Amino acid sequence: MLTEVSAGPYTVRGISVGGVYTSLQVPELGVVFDAGVPIRSFAGTDRIFLSHAHSDHTSALGSLLGIRNLIGKSPPQVFLPAEIEAPVREALAVQGRLHRAQMDIETIPMRPGDTRHLGQGLWVRAFRTHHTVPSLCYQFFRRVSKLKPEYQALPPEEIGRRRKAGEPLFDEVDRLELAYATDTLSRVLETAPSLLESRVLILECTFIDSKRTVQDAQQRSHIHLDEILARADLFQNEALVLMHFSQAYSPEEVHSLIQARVPEVLRERLRVFAPTSGRWFG
Ligand SMILES: [Zn+2]
Ligand SMILES: [Zn+2]
Repeated sequence: MLTEVSAGPYTVRGISVGGVYTSLQVPELGVVFDAGVPIRSFAGTDRIFLSHAHSDHTSALGSLLGIRNLIGKSPPQVFLPAEIEAPVREALAVQGRLHRAQMDIETIPMRPGDTRHLGQGLWVRAFRTHHTVPSLCYQFFRRVSKLKPEYQALPPEEIGRRRKAGEPLFDEVDRLELAYATDTLSRVLETAPSLLESRVLILECTFIDSKRTVQDAQQRSHIHLDEILARADLFQNEALVLMHFSQAYSPEEVHSLIQARVPEVLRERLRVFAPTSGRWFG
């Protein structure tokens, strides 16, 4: 079954186990993050964002396209690191020949710092993550017009009059909504500090206790819970969703170990993306 958590105004649903599979959906934004496992109810989502090409994040893309064909959906948009655009297209072409079916996608290659308008005021920006292969994280934001501070005390009629006269009354402001960062060193929180200001941050946390040390995590280009707790005061997010836990822990262990260690400052805002009982899916 899928795991589902509420994070601020957003729902995060899906499945995630480090090295095994990760695929998440945020229905309010109409996006799927990664395709490490084909989830039936994600097949209708038209925008897929791939963090990198490791098999636990991309190996089910072809299956997801197969389900889309079944339900009569057109090719989806796939946002991905520019370096993997050609090999992903080649892999799908081979699968298409194998299945004698079309495996069409519209690729949108992204480089660190690139932004794309997704419509209705919603934008996405890519940041470099620090992993063993080309990888990106994605931050979604809304670009809104905000009255400049010097005009905020004016009565509405006066604002209307000045607006008609063409006075530049508004600043464009980016409201940071949600970010997805996985398979990376914790250094991403320093190289992309705005992640800490996103309303919601979905962040990998592969290792959570002394079975694996911080050094072990860093050698594998992953994040250890110790590194998150050491920065607990920096997270300004309304909700911090931790995911991509190692299967070295059972879901129950993940919950209990984290609950025992999370400091007061994060307790209310932390969401542990793992089943509350039973085993990992599969
Ligand atoms: Zn992974
Ligand atoms: Zn990886």
